[in-house]
Amino acid sequence: MVASTPFWWEAAPPVALPSRDVLPRCDVVIVGAGYTGLSAGLTLARAGRHVQIFDKLRPGEGASTRNGGIASGNLRPSYSQMVAKFGADRADALQLEAKAAREDLADFIRAEGIDCDFQLTGRFTGAANASEYDGLARDADALRTKLGIEAHAVPRSEQRGVLGTDFYCGGMVRADIGGLHPAKFHRGMLEAAEKSGGIVHGQTAVLGFMPKNGGFEVETQRGRVQTDHVLVGTNGYADSSDRWLRRRLVPVRSRIIATAPLSNNLMSELMPKGVMCSETRKLHYYYRPSPDRTRILFGGRDGTIAGEPAWPTDSLKRALADIFPVLEGVDITHSWYGNVAMNRDMIPRIFSRDGMRYASGYCGSGVVWARWAGQKAAWQILADERGTSALDFRPPPAIPLFNGKPWFLPAVFAWLTLQDRIGRARRG
Ligand SMILES: Cc1cc2nc3c(=O)[nH]c(=O)nc-3n(C[C@H](O)[C@H](O)[C@H](O)COP(=O)(O)OP(=O)(O)OC[C@H]3O[C@@H](n4cnc5c(N)ncnc54)[C@H](O)[C@@H]3O)c2cc1C
Repeated sequence: MVASTPFWWEAAPPVALPSRDVLPRCDVVIVGAGYTGLSAGLTLARAGRHVQIFDKLRPGEGASTRNGGIASGNLRPSYSQMVAKFGADRADALQLEAKAAREDLADFIRAEGIDCDFQLTGRFTGAANASEYDGLARDADALRTKLGIEAHAVPRSEQRGVLGTDFYCGGMVRADIGGLHPAKFHRGMLEAAEKSGGIVHGQTAVLGFMPKNGGFEVETQRGRVQTDHVLVGTNGYADSSDRWLRRRLVPVRSRIIATAPLSNNLMSELMPKGVMCSETRKLHYYYRPSPDRTRILFGGRDGTIAGEPAWPTDSLKRALADIFPVLEGVDITHSWYGNVAMNRDMIPRIFSRDGMRYASGYCGSGVVWARWAGQKAAWQILADERGTSALDFRPPPAIPLFNGKPWFLPAVFAWLTLQDRIGRARRG
C-alpha cells in the first residue's frame, strides 16, 4: 500500500488545534497558517500586536508540511533574464536578498531552537546537456565572485563522487543550500507563534473581507472580526474568498514519492555526500535523502489538476529509475502532492491592494522565501524599516482566461515533457 499522506507526517503530523473563540476585534488578521502566516504572526505578536491567524485546514496542511524541505531560496529566472526584465540594480538586489534570506533561515532555526533536522548539505544541480553544463559552470563562477558563495562545477568524470549516476552531463555544487524536515520546521514555527501570543485558529476558513471603520471586517466561518490590517498568506491554496488573487496565482500540483528504506551501501553509492539535488531539465525533478539518509524522496510536477490518478506516481518512479537504474522497481511507501503557486514573472513578491497586504508566489521555493516574506510583510505593517524588500512589487497581473482553475496545465505539462524527450533523444 502506498500512503497518500506525506512521509513527513509520520514524525510530525498536522495537529487539530483546540477550538478557541474567535475574538471580535484584533490588530491584524492573517489568512493562512503556513510558513508565511506563522512567520508574520510571530513577528507581529512579538512586537505587541494582537494577532489572529486563520487556516481553513489544520495549520500546515497546505504546502508547508508537504514540501521537499530543500532550503534553496531559488529565483527561477536566470540573472540575465532578471536584468532584462527589472534592470541590473533590481536583479542584484534580488540575488542579495535570496542570500540574506537563506542565512536568516539558519539563524532563525538556531535562535528558536527548532528541532527540524536542518543541515547545510549543499546542493547539486545536474546538467541535462553539455551547453547547460557550461552555463552551470559560469553560474558557479558568478556565485563565487559576485556573492561570495562557495560553488564549483562538477565535470561528468567526477559526478559519481557527488551523486551515483551517469545521467547528467556534469553539474554544479553550491554550499549555501541545505535541507530540513518541513513538518518539524512548521511545528516549531507554530509553537513559537503561539508562545509569542499569536492566536491560531485551525479549521476556520476566512470567507471574505470588507473595508470598515478605517480597517476591515473579516468574515470567518466562526464569526466576524474587526481589524486594522489583513495579511493574506494563502499562496497555492488561495480560494474564492479572494477572487482577485485567484486570477493572479496559478496553483500547480507538485508530487513527491518516498522509497522504502534502502541499504546503507546503496545509499552511500547513490548519495555519497547527502546533498540536495535539482537539475536543468525543463520539467525538472528535485530530490534528496531523507534526514536519516535511509530513503530517497523524489519530487516533480504532478501534471494533474483534479482527482488522484495513479499515473503521476508511476511517472515519478520511471524518472527516478532513469537517474538511478538500480532503483527500477523499488518499493514506494508514500506518494503525495500539494500546491505551489506560480505568478507570471516567477518572482516571489510582497504587494498591497486596497490596504490589504499579500505575500506569495514562491514558485516552489517557499521554505526560505515564505518565512522571509511573511516576516518582511509583518515589518511593513509595523512601519519598521526592516520591511524594505526587493520582493516589493506591484500586484502580479491577472492571467487571461484564468479564474483559479488551471485548465491549461496538462497541455503545458505535455509540451514540456515533449521538449525534454526531444532534448534527450538529441543528446543520444
Ligand atoms: C510537494 C511540494 C514540494 C515542495 N518542495 C519545496 C522544496 O523542496 N523547497 C522549497 O523551498 N519549497 C518547496 N515547496 C513550496 C513550499 O512548500 C511553499 O512555497 C510554502 O510552503 C508556502 O508557504 P505558505 O505559508 O505561503 O503557504 P501554505 O503552506 O500552502 O499555506 C497556505 C494556507 O492557506 C490556507 N488557506 C487558504 N485559503 C484560506 C481561507 N480562505 N481561509 C483560511 N485559510 C486559508 C490553506 O489551508 C493553507 O494551509 C514545495 C511545495 C510542494 C507542494
